[in-house]
Amino acid sequence: MKYGGKKTKKVARPDVNDFWLMQALFYSTRGTCDRLRTACLIVDEHNHLISAGYNGSLPGADHCDDVGHLMIDGHCMRTLHAEENAVLHSTKSLRGATAYMLVSPCLLCTKKLLSVGIKKIICAEEFKNIQGRDVGAKFIKNLLAKNNVPIKFINIDFTEKLNQFTQILKSPGGFLRSN
Ligand SMILES: [Zn+2]
Ligand SMILES: [Zn+2]
Repeated sequence: MKYGGKKTKKVARPDVNDFWLMQALFYSTRGTCDRLRTACLIVDEHNHLISAGYNGSLPGADHCDDVGHLMIDGHCMRTLHAEENAVLHSTKSLRGATAYMLVSPCLLCTKKLLSVGIKKIICAEEFKNIQGRDVGAKFIKNLLAKNNVPIKFINIDFTEKLNQFTQILKSPGGFLRSN
């Protein structure tokens, strides 16, 4: 009997935070409002995906990209936000989980994330159109601090990451390998 195998050159696996933010990047492409296509992925303490959502209209409802936005006080109200969809459609408890998102949460989404027990927020970019501007931003900061929920910003070059992911996919065993 022969066993064992030849070791091939190892490709670097993506870092955990980069990995989840890249999944959010792909998830965001299904968004229906071109004011912001973002996504939110919720991961448990064992690093397993438990929920996900993107910014989109309700099922069967008009899309902003087809009929235009529904602007009220500088915010498009037609969609459910990525975080809202992730929270609403989870079949498991989100208590103690980490939320990954492309853009940091608005005031309403921050309240929802905290309310269901999210313990850490990791984002790639800061949301600039917060309800109530400075007052809203301060309120979010205080809510996060009171709940001991850190918000971490990861400086990620998505184009470069896409190249890294393509390299992994083209390496031995990867789905885009040539043989
Ligand atoms: Zn819209
Ligand atoms: Zn929101």
